[in-house]
Amino acid sequence: MSNYVLPDLPYDYSALEPHIAARVMELHHDKHHRTYVDGANKACEMLAEAREKGDFTRIAALEHALAFNLSGHVLHSLFWQNLSPDGGGTPGGELGQAIERDFGDFKSFRQQMIKAAEQTMGSGWAALVWDPLSSRLFVALYHDHQSETIQGSIPLLVLDAWEHAYYAQYANEKTKFFEAVWNVWNWEDVAKRFAEVQQSSLLIESAAAASRSRAAASRERPAGRA
Ligand code: MN
Repeated sequence: MSNYVLPDLPYDYSALEPHIAARVMELHHDKHHRTYVDGANKACEMLAEAREKGDFTRIAALEHALAFNLSGHVLHSLFWQNLSPDGGGTPGGELGQAIERDFGDFKSFRQQMIKAAEQTMGSGWAALVWDPLSSRLFVALYHDHQSETIQGSIPLLVLDAWEHAYYAQYANEKTKFFEAVWNVWNWEDVAKRFAEVQQSSLLIESAAAASRSRAAASRERPAGRA
C-alpha cells in the first residue's frame, strides 16, 4: 500500500543556484524528502496491521510517526513549488495587500519569517499560513514538521529551517540561507494558493469577530500597488 509518492522537482537541481546549491537540492529532495514519503507509507501500513490484529499497544508511536512523516511530505512538496528560478521580488495583487494588512508591510513580514526560522529550536519551519477562522495571515513556527501547528490553518509558503536544508552550503551561517531564499520565492505560486484558501472554512461559527467580512472588505479596497 503506497498512499504517497515523491513528486519530481519542477526544475533542475542547479536551477536555484547560487542561492541554493545543486548538491543541496539533490540530497534534500532525493534523500531527505523520500525518507518522509517512505515513513508516511510505512506508518499507514503499520496502522492497518494494528487494526487487523486488534493490537493497539503501539498506537501512540504510530500516530506520532504518521504525523511527523506525512507533515514532512506535505511541507517539502509545498516548499519545492514555493521556489522558482524566476522567483524573488515582492508579491502584488490581493496577496500583497493581505500581507500589508496583516503584518504592517512586506519588510516586517519578511523579517518575521527570517527571525522565526533563525530562532527555531532544533528542527523546524517558518510558514506563512492562512487562518480560515478570522480570514487572516499569520507566520507560524513549526517544530519538527508537525508541532506548534495552528490548528485549521493552511500553509501557503514554507521555509525549511532544518540543518539539512542549508548546512552543506552555508554551514553555521543559517541566516544567509534564510535571506538568500527570498531571491527564489515563487510569488505566483503563493498567490495561487492564497486565492484558493479564500474558499476554505472550518464551519466553526461565532469564534472570530471579523471572519468573512474582513476578507470581503479587503477585496473591496482599491489596489494599493500592482
Ligand atoms: Mn527539509
